[in-house]
Amino acid sequence: MLRCKQVSQALASDDYWELPLRKRIGLRLHVFLCVVCGPFNRFIMLMQDAKRHYLKHEQEDPPPPHLCLSCDAKQRLVESLNRENDAT
Ligand SMILES: [Zn+2]
Repeated sequence: MLRCKQVSQALASDDYWELPLRKRIGLRLHVFLCVVCGPFNRFIMLMQDAKRHYLKHEQEDPPPPHLCLSCDAKQRLVESLNRENDAT
């Protein structure tokens, strides 16, 4: 069984999902059973899961262009250049 310090170090160093399956199972088991570090490390794992799902969702379904700040800035730049060309 892993110790609390080992679990915290493993969760702090990287996304636990990228760890080998055996270590991941050990982490989950410890976090589920431990009354000392369980609540905090469950929260860390939840945040890592949320980050992973967000990044996956963002890659599969990017935001529409009208919500993209860089696209919006690009559009304003084009409009500004068009106004300058029309004025000259
Ligand atoms: Zn613990």
